[in-house]
Amino acid sequence: MYKSYLETYSKSDCCGCSACSLACPVSAITMAEDSEGFLYPRVNNDKCINCSICIKKCCLSSSGLRFREAGASETQNNNSNCYAVKNNDEKLRRLSSSGGFFPALAKYIILENGFVAGAAYDDKSMVHHIIISSIEEIPLLQGSKYVASRLDNIYERIKSLLEEKRLVLFTGTPCQIAGLLNYLGKKYESLITADLICHGTPSPVIYHDYLRFIENKYHDKIKSVTFRDKVNGWHTENITISMNSNKYTYTWERDPFYTLFFKNYILRPSCYQCRFARHERISDITMADFWGIEKSKPHFDDNKGTSLVITNTQKGQELFDKIKAAFVFDNAAINDSKQPMLKHPAVMPKNRPDFFKSYVNKGLVFCLKKYADYNLRAEIKYRIKKGIKKILNLLRNIKTICRGIKKI
Ligand SMILES: Cc1cc2nc3c(=O)[nH]c(=O)nc-3n(C[C@H](O)[C@H](O)[C@H](O)COP(=O)(O)OP(=O)(O)OC[C@H]3O[C@@H](n4cnc5c(N)ncnc54)[C@H](O)[C@@H]3O)c2cc1C
Ligand code: SF4
Ligand code: SF4
Ligand code: SF4
Repeated sequence: MYKSYLETYSKSDCCGCSACSLACPVSAITMAEDSEGFLYPRVNNDKCINCSICIKKCCLSSSGLRFREAGASETQNNNSNCYAVKNNDEKLRRLSSSGGFFPALAKYIILENGFVAGAAYDDKSMVHHIIISSIEEIPLLQGSKYVASRLDNIYERIKSLLEEKRLVLFTGTPCQIAGLLNYLGKKYESLITADLICHGTPSPVIYHDYLRFIENKYHDKIKSVTFRDKVNGWHTENITISMNSNKYTYTWERDPFYTLFFKNYILRPSCYQCRFARHERISDITMADFWGIEKSKPHFDDNKGTSLVITNTQKGQELFDKIKAAFVFDNAAINDSKQPMLKHPAVMPKNRPDFFKSYVNKGLVFCLKKYADYNLRAEIKYRIKKGIKKILNLLRNIKTICRGIKKI
């Protein structure tokens, strides 16, 4: 039995979806940012009429399940199928974080005169959900942005489109899908939902400060951020930050923000008790990285990215069948891919509270040094390792050339 944040006031019981605020009949709830940069509902007791609708509509409470089921295409996942997918369009696949299943899906919806909602960067590289309706806009939504995306008024805009019987694809984290379904509270035939297998979403405040830190370090202005840049192949997770005159590319182990994310210091509190870290999905289609493909399907892996796609409903399966000419695919079993987030949520480090205390009292740079190994020694070690790797590659290439010459 799960309770809502509006009953417990425990931060792990709120994913910030804002369904409660939109459901309140007297507009008594506003969403406000806490010191970690995450949004939570705040009730104005002078306006509140104690109707409990907000609690009933909460997408993380057991009582909210009824609304979610009413909004979903189907509630059973009896017919789910798994696939390994690589988009045929190499350019599109390169821009995506996995195998580029998402742009294939988005393209189909737009060609059917539909709308696609997903996460995009704004002009300050912060992340918000937007709605697109043209093929040219698809790259805005491509690629994983490892920070909590602000939903703004997206649910209301989607509802208006659905009321006009327009085709809509909503993509996002499972809790964002759950929030939408709870808000809608009824089935719309023209709604398609696609969720991600989700590790958790990092704090927008830490991310914002981190971007300012990079700008100060380089005395330059950031133009764009690319998590999961495939510049050194899909198996090596890189972040690239492009500035006016500089370019910064580091692996996740050497980028302090990425490190804090993967070490689980800066996730939203609800992520450590995620209700959606399970095999049963709430969307029509689930999109993820096909981690472990180099072992389970080595013939399929080209180190340019493979998506794991799970069709959860009949609607999802029909859609997959309609667009399958856009990609190469292979049938798979769910255990072919390493997916811890289908079994349990991310584990909270014991010293996460200390991290945020230090952040408030001593600032970001102190935290980067203490919790993300951001120091000169680690940097020198990294550069030596990188240098050795380069020399070994060079020697390997020379050896191959010599062998070729000998044969001649
Ligand atoms: C925060 C986060 C955590 C993830 N954790 C895992 C994981 O643990 N295991 C795993 O296998 N896959 C995870 N993924 C999913 C994976 O990284 C790819 O996004 C997914 O495989 C789709 O890739 P694609 O190549 O098909 O298309 P892409 O073009 O890469 O897909 C982009 C899609 O991701 C959505 N998106 C991007 N950033 C956000 C965001 N901040 N919030 C909501 N939606 C967003 C876009 O709206 C779009 O639908 C995560 C993604 C995100 C954003
Ligand atoms: S109890 Fe009713 S009036 Fe009060 S905040 Fe919740 S929905 Fe609004
Ligand atoms: S409906 Fe969403 S924002 Fe409101 S309390 Fe529940 S999880 Fe939090
Ligand atoms: S881990 Fe769970 S609670 Fe956190 S963003 Fe992902 S789906 Fe939402």
